[in-house]
Amino acid sequence: MLSLNDKIEKYKKVGQRYIKKLHKLGIYTIYDLLFYFPHRYEDFSDIIPIAKVGLNQKVTILGEIVEIINRKTFKKRMNITEAIIQDKSGSIRAIWFNQPYLIRTLKKKKRIAVSGKTTLSEYGLTLSNPYYELLPNYEFSSDNYESFLVSKLKHTARLVPIYHETYGLSSRYLRYLIYPIIPLADKIPDFLPSEIKKKYNLMDLSFAIKEIHFPKSLGSMEKARTRLSFDELFLINLNVLKQKYELLKEKSFSIPFNQNLIKNFVENLPFKLTDSQKIAAWEIFQDMQKIKPMNRLLNGDVGSGKTMVAILASLLVCKTGYQTAFMAPTEVLAKQHFLTLKKFLKGQNLNIGLITGSTQKLIGKKTFQIMQISKERFKKMVNEGKIDLVVGTHTLIQDNLSFPKLALVIVDEQHRFGVEQRAKLIIGNIEKQTNDKLKRINKEAKRTIPHLLSMSATPIPRTLALTVYGDLDISILKEIPTGKRKVITKIIPPEKRNYAYNLIRKQAKLKKQAFVICPRIETKDEKLGIRKKTGWEDVKAVKEEYEKLKDEFPEFKIAMLHGKMKPKEKEKIMKDFSLNKINILVSTSVIEVGIDIPNATVIVIESAERFGLAQLHQFRGRVGRSKHKSYCLLFTNSSSSKTYRRLKALLTSKNGFELAEKDLQIRGPGELTGKRQWGIPDLTMASLNDLELIQKTKEAAKKTIEQNLWNPVLVEKMKSFEKKIHLE
Ligand code: ADP
Ligand code: MG
Repeated sequence: MLSLNDKIEKYKKVGQRYIKKLHKLGIYTIYDLLFYFPHRYEDFSDIIPIAKVGLNQKVTILGEIVEIINRKTFKKRMNITEAIIQDKSGSIRAIWFNQPYLIRTLKKKKRIAVSGKTTLSEYGLTLSNPYYELLPNYEFSSDNYESFLVSKLKHTARLVPIYHETYGLSSRYLRYLIYPIIPLADKIPDFLPSEIKKKYNLMDLSFAIKEIHFPKSLGSMEKARTRLSFDELFLINLNVLKQKYELLKEKSFSIPFNQNLIKNFVENLPFKLTDSQKIAAWEIFQDMQKIKPMNRLLNGDVGSGKTMVAILASLLVCKTGYQTAFMAPTEVLAKQHFLTLKKFLKGQNLNIGLITGSTQKLIGKKTFQIMQISKERFKKMVNEGKIDLVVGTHTLIQDNLSFPKLALVIVDEQHRFGVEQRAKLIIGNIEKQTNDKLKRINKEAKRTIPHLLSMSATPIPRTLALTVYGDLDISILKEIPTGKRKVITKIIPPEKRNYAYNLIRKQAKLKKQAFVICPRIETKDEKLGIRKKTGWEDVKAVKEEYEKLKDEFPEFKIAMLHGKMKPKEKEKIMKDFSLNKINILVSTSVIEVGIDIPNATVIVIESAERFGLAQLHQFRGRVGRSKHKSYCLLFTNSSSSKTYRRLKALLTSKNGFELAEKDLQIRGPGELTGKRQWGIPDLTMASLNDLELIQKTKEAAKKTIEQNLWNPVLVEKMKSFEKKIHLE
């Protein structure tokens, strides 16, 4: 007998060669298998006598095989298995392509159920590639034979579950595995408090599991889906709320507002702050005055001037005598920020540091010149609280840096970091602060955590903000201060490639620059391709495009940039590009975030269908940063209408928020909420468009915490949920 916690290896039906594939889907145990839900159903519940079958009808037929042969088509050399199936009323033809082995199981005289849609061929009505299932040899004529059979069938004659068929696992195979273990669902303990179940009229968990796989009716499937979506959103909300309550217990540094300082600074800026910038800064100053840690997200489209708001917050904190850590997702971006700080914080009498995987630099308050310094010295200075403002990559959390007076953590492009990394920057420091030596330096820091400001240009759809971020505070930058930049966006079919190249040529002659973005570094990099149906050969790679473009544009200087290059090389390329010594830069998505090269006027995105809309919008934001006309050209070989619809959204919408909503609608929450973007597990069931459900689950989570409705199963479930988030 199998039990829920048994590994799939123990399940006899699981073939050796499928184990790895199942693991890739996150299925390790029988329990996991039961929790691998179908994403849709084929409705084959209509069982019809052959004589009554019409054209283009979705039907199930119960009959006997009276003839079955394999043959090859003349032209295409395709294998065809052809069968004649008969019932009392007549006969019909069924064909299967390229499955010659079927003939070994589907033999003459066997009884069979076939489900499919009828088409017309030269031989009359035909079922092509129907689902099939052999029937046991019971008396055909018995009255309740049909209903008896149907209760036993899994591939035909019912609502047939369709699973995501990645990694060479077919839905048929998954049904074959899942159907026999369905009774085990009874052993799954329900973690939802019974008060909640009653209040929202939810199905029992074990019944929902049964019904989601092999539903008795559409209505019952809907109820099962509601229950399971409820669960996912409920757990997310519970998690968010729990963290919020925990955060309420923590203390932070109260940073008094210094009006003179800020006023002076702002008056001396080369531009006027936008209204949103002023409001956001004001909200941040207010938060930081409290002894409760700030947890604010600064959300604003590309170019809305988030960095300036970050600088204002840092300035106040550092001039009050505390430290600020400013974390960026890439080295290139960290360096850019470092230079920006140098530009704006001159004369403020602050020491500013840069630390990345490959370098440490310091801007000393006296000379205000950039110096290279040793890692030891850098660490020592940070540890003694002598560097006021430290910019860096994730090295900030790895390199044993401890800040004795860290009062503000800024995380730029926060979606690029995992929840774990963010937590580490904050909590990691507190643990270090308990170190005796540091305690002496700053007694206050013993049990205090820094304020957190996260920044992101990736717009958060409203529904998602409500759930994932729960009651996180959000400031939004609405205006683009440098004016509405017009970026002409076009989808370019393969045959119009030359148009794009001519455009680049023209722009380059005008001394303007171009980006060419490819999804991959080289063709051999298989990672991206495996899951995709189109095959990874189609996906453009930086190294190849670089070679091609060198041939195409012998007159221009072309360079490439990707994550596998040495930091020194990358730095050199970015510097040359910013000095306009390079005309065309072929790059992976490393340039996606933040890079500011106003002289670039063209961005070509190869294999554009590989990117999310929000990401494409980010790419587009790399150009149009000056008053010059700019272009974003999307290349795609994909002819799917879904791809076209998605990319087209980019032409009509200039607003990142709108695009994120669209991505959510078209691609589904799974991809949008993917682990990298939001630090939560993929939502397999939950419809994030279902505001009402979100509202209900929020309410339920609150009720659970406030009325202490925890049960042991729920505690366990929450623990494994948290673990899952951290592993992502
Ligand atoms: P993002 O929000 O995308 O990070 P940045 O902070 O990089 O945007 O700002 C984009 C550009 O706009 C920078 O060159 C910055 O100096 C400039 N900028 C920021 N605020 C203003 C403003 N209020 N008026 C004019 N330019 C501004
Ligand atoms: Mg930025």
